[in-house]
Amino acid sequence: MRSKTKMVHGGITQDEKTGAVSVPIYQVSTYKQDGVGNLRGYEYSRTGNPTRHALETVIADLENGSHGFAFASGMAAITTVMMLLDSGDHIVMTDDVYGGSFRLMTKVLSRFELENSFVDTSDADKVEGAIKSNTKALFIETPTNPLLKITDLKQMADIAKKHNLLFIVDNTFATPYWQQPLDLGADIVLHSATKYIGGHSDVVSGLVAVKSAELAERIHFLQNSVGAVLGPQDSWLLMRGIKTLALRMEAIEANAKQLVGYLLDHHNVGDVYYPGLKEHPGHDIAQSQMAGYGGMISFDVGSGELAEEVLKKVNYFTLAESLGAVESLISLPSKMTHASIPADRRAELGIGDGLIRISVGIEDVSDLIEDMEQALGD
Ligand SMILES: *Cc1c(COP(=O)(O)O)cnc(C)c1O
Repeated sequence: MRSKTKMVHGGITQDEKTGAVSVPIYQVSTYKQDGVGNLRGYEYSRTGNPTRHALETVIADLENGSHGFAFASGMAAITTVMMLLDSGDHIVMTDDVYGGSFRLMTKVLSRFELENSFVDTSDADKVEGAIKSNTKALFIETPTNPLLKITDLKQMADIAKKHNLLFIVDNTFATPYWQQPLDLGADIVLHSATKYIGGHSDVVSGLVAVKSAELAERIHFLQNSVGAVLGPQDSWLLMRGIKTLALRMEAIEANAKQLVGYLLDHHNVGDVYYPGLKEHPGHDIAQSQMAGYGGMISFDVGSGELAEEVLKKVNYFTLAESLGAVESLISLPSKMTHASIPADRRAELGIGDGLIRISVGIEDVSDLIEDMEQALGD
């Protein structure tokens, strides 16, 4: 089955009993046992729920994994995966990972003596240089937010193998439609499914997929022990979102490419960051490991004042955090998603006050361009 077909026919897509073509929402916490310990497959919904199970099967399929897991949020997924590590272990992570992942590592898990180093993982030498005797895992996000930096996943897989590290990839920005890290050597792929996979700004959720039965067993044990599971209603919403993921990603990318072309020509716009651009750092790697470049664009208008003016003037780009939905969203990383990073560190990373990030939606691109035109001024 090819990717687009899997989104419709992958996983468990029907109800065996009734033939219902949409998986029913099993709004249930516990299950009748036919005798003590004689289960019909389910015992308690933290451990397993048929609606969640259907979703978990489809994400495993989409990522070419063997097992999937659904969590109450992307952060719940990441936290649970981190529980695979022990106190005293060290983990190497992409330096501009999602802010919530940075906070989890530096403000929460650091208290349990989980050590970390944040490095520019687009540079393999820096990754090698950061590995210590207690390094147990490598956590990569690619493309990153908001500069869309690219890390070579095959190269990271080699490093992970050489040093016997657990190789984890946050695939939120690319989605399984454009990038399949398990095929490139990752052990664990995870998502904030709140973003593209859900796709409609209506559900907070996280997904994990793996290809080893041994890892799957350990993650299921942790999922059940930690208990941050996704409820049946939200599981159903994600499955509904997944059915149109391919269509949305294609539409979003087509719009993104046109918007990038427009922005490049605008005299008020400086640098434009989009992995599909030939001059984008890591473009060649993106081209080799991604089937498409996605719908996230960042661009610099030179000053915080102009950036705020643009954000005030746009009509079709909703000013909001988050990304990956059918509606176009716009944000100012320096004042929003990355506000907690000190100004000098932000400057070091290249996140200036005039940097605007957009998550392109599926609107008519002519409306989006006209809107940007009136907001950017002439
Ligand atoms: C949003 C996001 C997360 C966190 O997911 P939540 O669903 O908000 O908990 C993790 N990683 C990336 C790349 C994200 O964009």
